[in-house]
Amino acid sequence: MDTCKLDECGKPVHCKGLCPMHYQRQRLTGTTNPRPRLTDSERFWANTRREGNCIVWIGGRHPLGYGYFGAQGIRYRAHRWAWEEAKGPIPDGAVIHHMCSNKPCVNVEHLECTSQAANVAEALEVRKVHKGNLEMLGCASSLYVSTLPELVPTPPREETTYGEAR
Ligand SMILES: [Zn+2]
Ligand SMILES: [Zn+2]
Repeated sequence: MDTCKLDECGKPVHCKGLCPMHYQRQRLTGTTNPRPRLTDSERFWANTRREGNCIVWIGGRHPLGYGYFGAQGIRYRAHRWAWEEAKGPIPDGAVIHHMCSNKPCVNVEHLECTSQAANVAEALEVRKVHKGNLEMLGCASSLYVSTLPELVPTPPREETTYGEAR
C-alpha cells in the first residue's frame, strides 16, 4: 500500500500521493505545510481595524469599552498591550490614558503614559489654587474647604476593579 508522499507522514494514500489529511490541506490552503503559528503581535493586530485616525480593537471588549487581548495565559487590556509592544513595560502604577477618548483605540500615537504620582501632583496643584482663590475672596471657611476635591484622587474605577489585567 502506498503511503503519503510526505516523508514524515506515513499514512495511507488517499489521492494524488497524499493521505486524506494532507490532501485536504493541499486542496484548501495550496500547501501541505501547517498554517504557521501566528505571533502574539500578528494575532493582536489582526484584531484591529482602522477608523479614521484611530486603530480600533474589534476583538473581545470589556463593558467599559477597553479591548481585551489574551497572550501567554494573561488577559491584557489591549491598549496597554499595544503600548508595551511599542514602548516597553509600563511602570507600576502608571495609567495609559487615551488622548483620543476612544477607549477601544490601540493606536499608540493616541496614548500617553501618566503616572499616578503625576496625577496626584496635579490634583495637589489644583487644590492649592482653589484654596488660594478662596482665601483671596476671604471665604476659606471650613464649609468651603470641605467641598474641595479629595487630596489624593481615587484612580479611575476600571483601573482598580480590573487591575489584574496588565
Ligand atoms: Zn500525509
Ligand atoms: Zn485613537
